[in-house]
Amino acid sequence: MNLFAIRSLRWRLVAVMVLADLIVAITTGIVTYTSQNGSLKNQVVTRARGGALILAAGAAPIFSFPNTPAERKSLLNKLVSTLPHNVGIGGAAVYNASGCIKVLAPPGPLPRCAPTGRLQGTRELSNGDMQAFATIEGVTGPVGYASVTASSKSADSDLRKSTIASAAVRALGVLIFFLLSLAIAQYLLGPLENLARAAESVGSGDLSTRLPEANSTELASLAHTFNTMTSALEQRIKQLSFLASAGSTLPNTFRNGGDVRPIIAQFCEQIGAGGAGLVPRGEGDPEPLWYGTDGSRDPACLSLALKLAQDARSADAFVTEGRAIMVVPVLGNTVFVAVRDATQPFTREEQQVVINFAYQLGIAADNARLFESQQEALQVKDQFLSIVSHELRTPLTTIKGYSQMLRRKLGSDPVNERYAANIDAQVTRLTRLVDDLLDVTRFSRGQFELKFSPTDLRPMLEDVVTRFRIVAPRHTFNLELDDSPLTGEWDHDRLEQVLNNLLSNAVKYSPDAGTVTVRAMRRGDSVEVRVRDTGIGIDEENQRHLFERFYRAGGDANDIKGLGLGLYVTQRIVDAHHGHISVQSAVGEGSEFTVVLPSAPLSLETASTVQST
Ligand code: ADP
Repeated sequence: MNLFAIRSLRWRLVAVMVLADLIVAITTGIVTYTSQNGSLKNQVVTRARGGALILAAGAAPIFSFPNTPAERKSLLNKLVSTLPHNVGIGGAAVYNASGCIKVLAPPGPLPRCAPTGRLQGTRELSNGDMQAFATIEGVTGPVGYASVTASSKSADSDLRKSTIASAAVRALGVLIFFLLSLAIAQYLLGPLENLARAAESVGSGDLSTRLPEANSTELASLAHTFNTMTSALEQRIKQLSFLASAGSTLPNTFRNGGDVRPIIAQFCEQIGAGGAGLVPRGEGDPEPLWYGTDGSRDPACLSLALKLAQDARSADAFVTEGRAIMVVPVLGNTVFVAVRDATQPFTREEQQVVINFAYQLGIAADNARLFESQQEALQVKDQFLSIVSHELRTPLTTIKGYSQMLRRKLGSDPVNERYAANIDAQVTRLTRLVDDLLDVTRFSRGQFELKFSPTDLRPMLEDVVTRFRIVAPRHTFNLELDDSPLTGEWDHDRLEQVLNNLLSNAVKYSPDAGTVTVRAMRRGDSVEVRVRDTGIGIDEENQRHLFERFYRAGGDANDIKGLGLGLYVTQRIVDAHHGHISVQSAVGEGSEFTVVLPSAPLSLETASTVQST
C-alpha cells in the first residue's frame, strides 16, 4: 500500500497506526503460536513417558511372580486397560525381555519383535503421536519393556482453539486500535485541518476568519500567529480600500460643497485616532478642517494640533504631551495632523496610510479652493460676456437697419451701394459673433433651450444654399437631396444656424473659392447632412479639438478671422437634438462635416435644456 497516495493527513496517520498494530499483532501471534506449539508437544511427551513409567511399574510384579503365561497375559491386559485413555493415552504395549510384544492395546500394526536397543527413550511416530518406552525392572535386571503412545490430537485441537481465540482477540484489538487511532488523528490533526480550512477561507477572501486559541499547545500559538496575521491583513485591506474610496469621494464631496468631516471620521476609525484634520500653519490661513471622535471639535486635541503644525516641516510621527502624533505638511500652508493615545505610537505601515490620506485630503481641499475661484472667475467672465453681448446686440440691430435702408436709398449709385453692402455684410458678421457669444453664455448658465416642431430639411437646405450662392458668388454650390423624406422633430431656427455655420466655414476656409457640396439623405430613423468643401483642410491633431470652445486651428486658418465658437455652438445644438457631428478632412484637400439627426429625439420634449459643461 502506498501511504503517500492517501491525500488526507488524517487517514494517512490512521493507516500508519493500524499498519503498525497489524505488524505487532501478527508478530506476537506467530511467537505465541510457536511457543504454545512447543509446550503442547512437551506435554504429549511427558504424558507418554509418565504412562510408560506407570505401565512399567505395574507390569514389574506381574513379570516377577511365577504366573502362567496365560495368566500373565491376562493380568497385563487388565493393567493396560486401566491406563487413562481419556487424557490422551493412545495405546500401550508390553514387550518381554527379548523385545517381543506380549500385550498390545489397541491392536495395531506394530512389528511383533524389535531390537531391545530401540525400546528406549521416546520417538515421534509418523502421525505425530509420541511413543515412550520404560524398562520393566525385575529382581535380576530388565524383564521387559513398556511402551505407551500419547496422542497429539488433543494437543493440536487445543492449539487450534487457542490460536483461533487469540486471533479473534487480536482482530478485536486491531479494530479497537483503529477506532482509537481515528480519535487520536482527530485530536492531533483536527486543529491542523481547522488551520488549513481557515487558510483556504482567507485565501478565498473571507478575512474575518479566526481560529480558536483555547489551549497552550504549539498549535494554539500557531493559531494565535495566524489570527494576528489575518487581522493585520484585514485591517490593512480595509485601510487600503478606505483610501481608494476616499480618493474619489473626497474631491466629489468638496466639489459639491459637502462636509468632508464624516470621511475624516472614517479615517479616524480606521487608524484608531482620537482626532485628525487639516490645520493651518500660520494665522490668516484657511479654517481648520478638524474631526474629533466625540463628533465635535475636541478643543484639547485641536489646540495641540494647531501648535504642532507651526513647526511641521516634513512628515513625522512622535509622542508628546501624552499623545501619539503624526504630522504631514501638505499643499498650501496646511498640515495634516492625526492624534491618538500615547500607548499606540504610529507604526511604519500606519504612517504610510496617514501620509496617503493626508495628501488626498490636502490635494482635494486645494483643488476645491482652485475650483471655487475658477468658478467665480468663469461666472464673472460669463456675466461680462452676457452684458457686453446684450449691449452690442441693440446698436448692431440699429446699424443693420440703417445700412439696409442706405442700400435701398443709394441703390442707383453703384459705388455707394457697394459701401452700404459692405457695412451690411460686416454688421451681419458681427451680429453672428455676438449671437454665438450669447449662446455660449446661455450654455454656461444652463439657459439654452430648443423648441421642437415638425421640420422639413429639404426647403431649409434649398433656402440656405440659395442665400450662400448670392453672398459667395465665386464658389460653386451643389445640392444633392435624397428622394426620401428629410423630416423630423427639430428646432427649425437652431438647425438653420447649424447649416449656416457649416456652410460659412466651408466658404471661409476655401479662400481660393472652390466647390461646396451639400448632401442630405435618410439613414433609417435618422437624417444625415454632409457639407463638403475643397478648402484648406484640417490636420488630425486639430480635428480632435475643433469642437472645443474658442478653439482655432493654426496654420493657414490663422489668416482667416474668427472666434472659434461656431463649431462649439454647432455641436451643442446637434447634441441637444441627440444627434452627432463628425469631421473628415485632409490638409490641402478639403473637409467634410457630417451631422446625423434622429428624426424623433430620444426624449421628445417641447423644450430641451442644455446644461453647461
Ligand atoms: P471660427 O471659424 O470662428 O474660427 P469655428 O468654431 O467655426 O470657429 O471653427 C473652428 C476652427 O475649425 C476654425 O478656426 C478653423 O481652423 C477650423 N475649421 C472649421 N471649419 C473648417 C473648414 N471647413 N475647413 C477648414 N478648417 C475649418
